[in-house]
Amino acid sequence: RAVAAPVKLNTKRSEEIFKEAQELLPGGVNSPVRAFRSVGGGPIVFDRVKGAYCWDVDNNKYIDYVGSWGPAIVGHCNDEVNAALKAQIDKGTSFGAPCELENVLAKMVIERVPSVEMVRFVSSGTEACLSVLRLMRAYTGREKIIKFTGCYHGHADSFLVKAGSGVITLGLPDSPGVPKSTAASTLTATYNNLDSVKELFAANKGEIAGLILEPVVGNSGFIVPTKEFLQGLREICTAEGAVLVFDEVMTGFRISKGCAQEHFGITPDLTTMGKVIGGGMPVGAYGGKKEIMKMVAPAGPMYQAGTLSGNPMAMTAGIKTLEILGRPGAYEHLEKVTKRLIDGIIAAAREHGHEITGGNISGMFGFFFCKGPVHCFEDALAADTAKFARFHRAMLEEGVYLAPSQFEAGFTSLAHSEADIDATIAAARRVFARI
Ligand code: PLP
Repeated sequence: RAVAAPVKLNTKRSEEIFKEAQELLPGGVNSPVRAFRSVGGGPIVFDRVKGAYCWDVDNNKYIDYVGSWGPAIVGHCNDEVNAALKAQIDKGTSFGAPCELENVLAKMVIERVPSVEMVRFVSSGTEACLSVLRLMRAYTGREKIIKFTGCYHGHADSFLVKAGSGVITLGLPDSPGVPKSTAASTLTATYNNLDSVKELFAANKGEIAGLILEPVVGNSGFIVPTKEFLQGLREICTAEGAVLVFDEVMTGFRISKGCAQEHFGITPDLTTMGKVIGGGMPVGAYGGKKEIMKMVAPAGPMYQAGTLSGNPMAMTAGIKTLEILGRPGAYEHLEKVTKRLIDGIIAAAREHGHEITGGNISGMFGFFFCKGPVHCFEDALAADTAKFARFHRAMLEEGVYLAPSQFEAGFTSLAHSEADIDATIAAARRVFARI
């Protein structure tokens, strides 16, 4: 510990509020990772956000690289999005009936995302993924699905399965309450490893409905696919009559204007979306080829519905967000600031002798405290999570808010300036000297 921490963070109000929350909400939160359990030290309770920044209830200001876990891509509390939402409030927040805004957002999505010819809006990424699960099965008449270890597709029973070595073809549930019979239909392969996929198809001939993946992983840290891997999955699924699903809840409209599928030039059969598409309001969506989407009720027999689906507030925030992202230079800005950030963090870590590996695509980034390379969740397990916890807390003290886990990606926004990035790198350099 050559250099002392700059200032002890005053988190008095955060601690009081979180203490009370623990009596009211399970674990004090409404989504587990917010509780900071994997980094310790207790969560920061937010008061307000604007642009690239967030403020906690003790009035500490942070440069934010979580961005509400992805939606805040045009910057928090964006003036244009706010103005559109304020205008919509006076016309009503929920109709439960068709509105033209649904067509407007649907057209924007269909125009941008190569695989999407028709889309259904829902209210979360989880809902999008569980609907797509039903659709894969309805369309193929098969029950088994393949996912990859370390990929997250929301909390539907069938996806809460990761399967370590020895249970790779069995499927064991990660959570109590998931029926063994449900988990058994979920087969788990290794990311960036085509052989592991081929083996599952060979052992379950004619039984696999489809395969779902994060086309760039963000839920076991940031892991990039090889082009050959995505291309191979496309070919295998086509040959086996299985549906290829890209879960673009995180990558959608973040990796590029046409999502990860456009970036890599590989077109899946179905795509799930969320986060960015709702511009900070609760939204999810799934879409794909008309031939498959016409299975969905009331066009077809596969039932799926939602009281708040396509609600005018969510559509309005999504439309304005995609409109802003469609302006010239948006993705160039995301790439520029994010590359500068990750290059700077990696260089600062190495200057102080820390092992690190990482990267970015557009406004999504991540790093692991290990030598690397990291091609799959199994590789990511080599990361020094205790060091990450120390880094995370020290960065908070420096006024930088990072995702509270080594196994989460980070996000930038159009509001992050080069000055924000340079301030973050300078903070990281001070922190690497003392952790
Ligand atoms: N799929 C992916 C790739 C995600 O990253 C997430 C959430 O982080 C989900 C699905 C679930 O989305 P939601 O949290 O909106 O239910």
